[in-house]
Formats: sequence, structure tokens, C-alpha cells
Amino acid sequence: MSPSERIVLVTGANKGLGREVARQLASRGSFVYLGSRDLARGRESADDLRRIGLAVSEIALDVTDDGSVARAAERIAAERGRLDVLVNNAGIHIGAPALEIDVADMRATYETNVFGLVRVTRAMLPLLRVSASPRIVNVASTTASHARTSDPTSMFAREDRSLAYASSKAAVTMLTVQYAGAFRRRPDDAHILVNAVTPGYVSTDLNGNTGHRTVEEGSRVVVAMATLDDGGPSGGFFEEAGPVPW
Ligand code: NAP
Repeated sequence: MSPSERIVLVTGANKGLGREVARQLASRGSFVYLGSRDLARGRESADDLRRIGLAVSEIALDVTDDGSVARAAERIAAERGRLDVLVNNAGIHIGAPALEIDVADMRATYETNVFGLVRVTRAMLPLLRVSASPRIVNVASTTASHARTSDPTSMFAREDRSLAYASSKAAVTMLTVQYAGAFRRRPDDAHILVNAVTPGYVSTDLNGNTGHRTVEEGSRVVVAMATLDDGGPSGGFFEEAGPVPW
């Protein structure tokens, strides 16, 4: 391992945006752990990336499972001793109509999109702290923007199946603000930059491949926030074009 090599963990990296973020970061010289709740699927994606010469490794990681997350952190600690970049990408969308969605669906959505992010962040924090320039990127969604979703003319206001998903992603942006504040208040953690991003409407399994952007396009803002220089923003919410209105 070269001293300048960045060690990256991407959750939910066996397909979709996570896999492409892993590819783009590995292409820039990082060593990337591809988190996957199904290790066989993770291995297939990692094999594809290794075949094109990239330094990646699949790692079992179910963000809803304390034991799985703890084991992933132990393995990274044993193999690398630190983590430079955490991309909290794993997410689900349960698309029941707003007036029909029940608590079980809400709980399942929050278990992955919200509590999973907290579980992974907390477990990886000791490894991030020892990095010289740690970065955390939380993959939210444009639906998390109160400004855009509350505009009755926006496409997000017309979407009837986003109650669980959009509210969980709004929690992700607020978690990002809260973590950034907590890092800023502790001198030992002030070097950790954490930001939320939205990739736009990207064609993946999450939306039945109906998105109008490619995973290559959607991943760019994630990569930009994962590779921020020291002194960059923290606690922000960004899309490729710039800050997203809260
Ligand atoms: P995707 O293709 O469905 O990928 C989702 C990934 O998350 C998969 O690897 C999935 O693994 C993983 N995952 C789900 N539950 C998990 C768990 N409990 N533990 C670990 N991994 C888990 O969807 P995507 O569009 O790439 O989504 C990636 C992120 O982007 C999500 O946070 C999503 O909300 C966000 N996003 C997407 C869009 C879009 O238009 N596509 C827009 C805004 C934000 P399995 O293969 O095992 O299910």
C-alpha cells in the first residue's frame, strides 16, 4: 500500500450507484472496499473491477445488522488500520402510496436509510479519526429538499409514493448537519468533513431503471465530496451543479 493511497468503504456497492462510485474512486488510485450484504454479489462486482486492474475488495456488510457492521470495521482495522472515506450509499425505496404506507414499511425504510447510516458511521468513526483527511459522504436524494418537494409545480410534489423514502432522506440531510456540528465542536474530530449529496434521478434498480441520468453522471457529486481538499465544506447538501436548497 502506498502512503498516499486512500482507503474507501462504499456501502451497497454491489450494484447501481455504489458500484460506480467504487469504480470511479478506485480509478483515481484509491483502495475500495465494496460493501455488500450478499457477499457473492459483492464478489462478482469486485471481480469485474479487478479484471480492469482496480484495487478493490468485497466486504460483507448489511447496514441493518450490528454484528455485520462490527465485523466489517474489525476487518478494515486489521487489514488497513484506518479509513479515509466512508460513502453511506446503501438505500431502499418502498413505494407504497402515501396514504397507505404503514409503520412496518416506514420502519424498514428507516432501518436501512437512517439507522443503517448511523450504525455504520458510528462503527467506522475510530478508523476515520486516524485518517489525516477523513471524508464521509451521505447519499440522500433530491426528495429530501423541503424547498423542492414543497413546491407544488415540482416533479417531487407530484410523486405519491415517496412518504417513507423522502422523509428518511430528509433525516439523512439533518444527520449530516448534526454530525458536521459534532465534528466541528471537537478539536480532535474537526478534520472530518461530512456532506450529503443527491445524484439526481439515475437509472438503477431502485426506480425500475426509469431514471434519466446514468450512474456515471450520478456518481460524480459523490466522488467530488469524497475527494474534497482539506478546508472544504462540511454539513452541506450538494448536487452536481452545486448546493441544494434545504
Ligand atoms: P440500487 O441499484 O437499488 O442499489 C442499492 C444498493 O443498496 C444495493 O447494493 C443494495 O444491495 C444495497 N442495500 C440495500 N439494503 C442494504 C442493506 N441492508 N445493507 C447493505 N446494503 C444494502 O439503487 P441506487 O439507485 O444505486 O441507490 C444507491 C443510493 O442512491 C441509495 O441510497 C438511494 O436512495 C440513492 N439515490 C438514488 C437515486 C436514483 O435515482 N437511483 C436518486 C437519489 C438517491 P442488494 O443488491 O443486496 O439489494
